[in-house]
Amino acid sequence: MRQLPERMQETLYDDRFIPAETIKLRKKYRAFAEKELFPRAYEIGQKREANENFPRDLFKSMAKKGFFKVAYSKKDGGTGLKYPACASAVLAEEMAYISASFAGSVNAHFLLAGRSLSFGSAFIKKKYLKPLLDSELIGSFAMTEPQSGSDVRTESLITKARKKGGNYVVSGQKRYITNAGVSDFIATLVSLNGKSCMLVIDTKSKGCTTSEPDKKLGNRGELTYDIYFDNVSVPKENLIGKEGDGLRICVAALMYGRTSIGSSGVGMAQSAFDETVAFLKEREAFGQKISRFQHWQFLLAERAVEIENARNLYIKSALAIDNGNPFPVVESSGAKFYGSKLSVDMARDAVQAHGGLGLMVELAHDESTYKVEEIYRDSKVGEIYEGSNEIHKMVIAREIFGK
Ligand SMILES: Cc1cc2nc3c(=O)[nH]c(=O)nc-3n(C[C@H](O)[C@H](O)[C@H](O)COP(=O)(O)OP(=O)(O)OC[C@H]3O[C@@H](n4cnc5c(N)ncnc54)[C@H](O)[C@@H]3O)c2cc1C
Repeated sequence: MRQLPERMQETLYDDRFIPAETIKLRKKYRAFAEKELFPRAYEIGQKREANENFPRDLFKSMAKKGFFKVAYSKKDGGTGLKYPACASAVLAEEMAYISASFAGSVNAHFLLAGRSLSFGSAFIKKKYLKPLLDSELIGSFAMTEPQSGSDVRTESLITKARKKGGNYVVSGQKRYITNAGVSDFIATLVSLNGKSCMLVIDTKSKGCTTSEPDKKLGNRGELTYDIYFDNVSVPKENLIGKEGDGLRICVAALMYGRTSIGSSGVGMAQSAFDETVAFLKEREAFGQKISRFQHWQFLLAERAVEIENARNLYIKSALAIDNGNPFPVVESSGAKFYGSKLSVDMARDAVQAHGGLGLMVELAHDESTYKVEEIYRDSKVGEIYEGSNEIHKMVIAREIFGK
C-alpha cells in the first residue's frame, strides 16, 4: 500500500487563526481519514462510477463519531459548537487531503442537504435531518438543471411545482446531483408560479427516478446523476421554510458548501505539495537530489505561501459565518475560487515534478501506485461546482463596482 508523505502543514503552517475547538476536532478527523479512509482511497479515486461503490460504511463510521453533527446547533440535534463552520471546513480539508471524491460526497450530504434542512420545520428536522446526521438516511441537494447551472434564477428553472389539494406536484429534471442515486431524499429547488421553493422529495416517491451515475474525468468516488420528476406528489409538510424562500435557503447552505470547497482545495493542494516535496527530496538528476535545483525550491516556496493564504481565507470565511454573518459573500467566494484554483495549479506542478511517474496510476513493473494524477483529475471540478469561479469573481466584482 502507498505511504502517506510527511505532512508539511506541521512545519509550515501556524495554527494561530484556527479556534482551539477546531484544532481538537482536526485530530479526530485526521485519525479517521488516515486509519479508515486512506486504505480505501485508491479504490474510491480509481474505480469507475457505480452505485455499489458508494462507501456507506464510511459514512456510518463518520456518523458514529459525531462528525456530521459538528455543523449543527444542539437544538437541531448537533454538537452545538461555538465554531460549526470552522469545524465543517476543516473536516472537508482533512477528507480531501486523503480523497477529494469522498470529501465531495460528504459535503453534499451533511452540508448542502443538511444545512438546507436546518431551515425546515420541527417535522422536517425529525424526519430528515436527525437521520441524516446519523447517516441512517443519505441526503442530496439539487439546484442544477440540464440547461443551466450558473443561472438558477427562478425564471430559468424547468423543475416546476404546482399545488394540488394543498400538496405539491413536481415535474422537471436536475443534473449532476451528487449522491442522488444512492440517497433517500433530495432537497430540491423548484419554481412555484415564479416563486422559488425548496422541497424535500423522497427518492422512492412515485414518478421520481434517477439515471445511472455519470462517468467523469475526476471525482469518480463522488457519484452524480440526473434526476427525473414526473408529476411527483410532495406533501405540503416537505416545504422547507416558506414559499419564495428557496434561493435564500440554497445560498445559505452554499455559504458552508463554498467555504468547504475552498478548504477541500487546500486539502488537495497540501497533499500534492507534500507528495512533491517527498519525491523531490529522493529523486536524483545530474548527480544530485532534484530538490537542490532552485527552480523547484522557488516554485514550492511560492506554493507554500499560497497554501497559507488559501487556508487563512477559508478559515476567515468560516469565522465570519460563525461570528453571525450568514452571507459572507466576499470571504466565501474568495476562499472558494482561490482554494480551488490553487489545487489545480499545485496538482499540475506536482505532475510535472514527478516526471513520467506523474502520469502513473500504477506502474506495471512493480505495481506501485501514485497519487498525483488523481489530484490532477479531481481538483478541476472545484473550479466549476458550487458556483463556477467566474461566477464567484462576478460576486466579488459586484461588491467593487455595484450590480
Ligand atoms: C462532480 C459534480 C458534482 C456536482 N454536484 C452538484 C450537486 O450536488 N447539486 C447541484 O445542484 N449541482 C451540482 N453540480 C453542478 C454544478 O454546480 C454546476 O455544474 C455549476 O454550477 C456550473 O453550471 P453548468 O455546468 O450548468 O455550467 P454553465 O452555467 O452552463 O456555465 C458554463 C461556463 O460559462 C461560464 N459562465 C456562465 N455565466 C457566466 C457569466 N455571467 N460570466 C462569465 N462566465 C459565465 C461558467 O463559469 C462556465 O465556465 C455538480 C457538478 C459536478 C461536475
